[in-house]
Amino acid sequence: MEPADSIRRLGFSRWYERRLIEGHAWFISGFACMVAIPASFEELSFRGSFARLVAYVIIILAAAAIGIYGLVRYQQILSEAEQLGEHATCGACGAYARFKLISHSQVRCRKCNHEWRLIDTG
Ligand SMILES: [Zn+2]
Repeated sequence: MEPADSIRRLGFSRWYERRLIEGHAWFISGFACMVAIPASFEELSFRGSFARLVAYVIIILAAAAIGIYGLVRYQQILSEAEQLGEHATCGACGAYARFKLISHSQVRCRKCNHEWRLIDTG
């Protein structure tokens, strides 16, 4: 969880855009897993072989784990992006996402050299 390096590498706008894409990819994966669970339950038959039963139980547990993880990641990524997005506007001149990272948390406006804290560390 170190957004400063990626923001420095990509620039804030591209970083933000990628976070949104990544967040939604997690959401779609999580959602797909959640949809797969009831479908697998339909296949779950206690009349089949034990191996088959075990296989479906594993699939359902894996889908649940990936699904929950995906939705949690979606939530985390979007709230982080949103939180930084709220701080991406220069308080002095109002320029959006036009700053340079000068440390892991501090940024400096490219237009007016105003400095502020973008990332709350700890
Ligand atoms: Zn400024």
